[in-house]
Amino acid sequence: MRAYFLGVRGSTPAPGESFVRYGGYTSCVALAHDDQAVPSLILDSGTGIRRVTAMYGAEAFAGMILLTHLHWDHVHGLPFFAAADRDDSRVALFLPEQPDGAEAADVLARAMSPPHFPIGPEGLRGKWSFSSLAPGTIEEDGFRIEAREVPHKGGRTYGYRVSDGTSTLAYVPDHCPSVLGPGPEGWGEYHLDALDLACDVDALVHDAQMISDEMAAAAFLGHSTAEYAVELGRHAGSRRVVLFHHQPDRSDDALDELTRRFGPAPQVIVAAESLVLQL
Ligand SMILES: [Zn+2]
Ligand SMILES: [Zn+2]
Repeated sequence: MRAYFLGVRGSTPAPGESFVRYGGYTSCVALAHDDQAVPSLILDSGTGIRRVTAMYGAEAFAGMILLTHLHWDHVHGLPFFAAADRDDSRVALFLPEQPDGAEAADVLARAMSPPHFPIGPEGLRGKWSFSSLAPGTIEEDGFRIEAREVPHKGGRTYGYRVSDGTSTLAYVPDHCPSVLGPGPEGWGEYHLDALDLACDVDALVHDAQMISDEMAAAAFLGHSTAEYAVELGRHAGSRRVVLFHHQPDRSDDALDELTRRFGPAPQVIVAAESLVLQL
């Protein structure tokens, strides 16, 4: 399968001349089967999801959207995804089952409805379904998807492990492992759910909002350091670690510097909007 990195930023979009090379759209990764020209599984709907429309050309989107959680940087692109907001689209959206048992569409509508936004989820054109997902495994559209709850801050959050039967990618964009203890280096615990998600994957796409000098901010904001992400990949046997969800002030020059911090194994890639990984 191929993984398209369409938005690699966390928290809020980062436009401007200091962010041109890595990009300023918020979290969105789209997966395509090798024999498909366009992606059919989209991980998160940050503002980067707008870029899927150009990939579809004149066609309507047909596929799945999996949300890791409901924070703005993971949902704000949804009503601006033009290839999905048309009469002939077909979209199955899944989000984490909520502790209060609320229906998926109602959970989305808390942030996406008047007076916060002109329409609610039911106002999107096309055939949409909104479903809650419990932790566990589902098989859809040729993908095997495993959902695990991971610690973050402010709302239930999942990491996903996606396989097409040949290749496997883990997607853990928002993760606060220090909630479970300091771990061996003080960056957070290498806990079982994170290790299972990342075990022997071709690529681990992981929260790298912070760096180790910013550990206090990482813990306060509910995020990980880049160093934790790389070591998690090493512990879990990941072949590549893709540092993702860059904080909005991390400039192109600072991200260039991040690429030079790590050794050759596992391979470390700093996610940029131009990145396409063949897995
Ligand atoms: Zn986020
Ligand atoms: Zn978040």
